[in-house]
Amino acid sequence: MTAGSWVLMSLSILKNVKLADYTSWIIGGEAEYFCLPTTVDELKEALQFVKQNQLPVAILGGGSNVLVSDQGVPGMTICLRRFSEISTEIKNDRIYINCLSGTGKSELLKVFLKNQLAPALFLAGLPGDVGGGVVMNAGVAEAFMPREFMELVDAIEVMNLDGEIKKIEKSELNVRYRHTDGWQPDIVIRTFMSWPLEKDLSILQKVRDANKVRLSKQPLDMPSCGSVFKNPEGHKAAQLIDQCGLKGFRIGDAQVSLKHANFIVNLDQAKASDILNVILHVQKTVLEKTGIQLTNEVVKLGQF
Ligand SMILES: Cc1cc2nc3c(=O)[nH]c(=O)nc-3n(C[C@H](O)[C@H](O)[C@H](O)COP(=O)(O)OP(=O)(O)OC[C@H]3O[C@@H](n4cnc5c(N)ncnc54)[C@H](O)[C@@H]3O)c2cc1C
Repeated sequence: MTAGSWVLMSLSILKNVKLADYTSWIIGGEAEYFCLPTTVDELKEALQFVKQNQLPVAILGGGSNVLVSDQGVPGMTICLRRFSEISTEIKNDRIYINCLSGTGKSELLKVFLKNQLAPALFLAGLPGDVGGGVVMNAGVAEAFMPREFMELVDAIEVMNLDGEIKKIEKSELNVRYRHTDGWQPDIVIRTFMSWPLEKDLSILQKVRDANKVRLSKQPLDMPSCGSVFKNPEGHKAAQLIDQCGLKGFRIGDAQVSLKHANFIVNLDQAKASDILNVILHVQKTVLEKTGIQLTNEVVKLGQF
């Protein structure tokens, strides 16, 4: 044990960990306390530490939809990216998938691809973890089947700060565009999914083609968090931003992507404050020129 770390029963808790290393924007200050639980018991240990020390808690999945403050995040940041386990069962012409919330969407994609099922196409190119997919109800614009993550989900399991676990059926959740409610303030720990076993023999080719299209339309070679703004009803955020002449608009190293106007990319050393100022400028300009208010899809962690 060092001055900046604690080893509980089996979990290490670290102090002052740079969160930029855990986000797809590669931006953000330090977590005051940080841990990477791999099992349900380790997550419980983390929460006991939180309770004993009366710390606020922030949850990080794959970090592909968060803007972490330059001032960092006070209290405990629990990063779930190693909280990963997936199992499948085939019964009555359906595949049933049960996974811990830190399981990567890419692992889920492999299951659907192996079984030649349509959700592989939906999941191709969706970064982050399964838990982040549930919380954000991640979705795609294309007419794929499914189009939203929660279409795959039957139920979730959550853990509260006392380490108690409860199952919530999808019917008890409030599923909306890019957001799921009804599980807060707990932590999503497990997801139960199922899909009919209707094989699509050309699914691999469709995934390859979709990946090519994404590569041509999105700046996947640069750090980003995907689409920054939700699409306002009846509009596409990217089109509105483009129409307002904002492609390429830059503050510091934060720039509205030249390739996809709803992406803000980190050119090199962008700070969270640069990204936020670009967001505010885009919102103000779009509102002034079109009368439409853009709202954030990306979630802020820490103080802004
Ligand atoms: C290149 C790129 C392309 C993208 N394309 C798309 C796209 O096509 N469609 C789309 O919808 N999104 C897209 N995104 C955004 C992002 O990948 C999704 O929103 C994803 O589902 C977020 O998952 P995550 O694990 O990274 O969540 P994080 O970014 O880690 O977290 C997001 C929010 O969920 C909370 N959270 C995460 N896990 C849990 C949990 N287990 N329990 C409680 N709270 C939790 C966090 O606290 C945070 O508030 C893209 C991002 C990138 C970088």
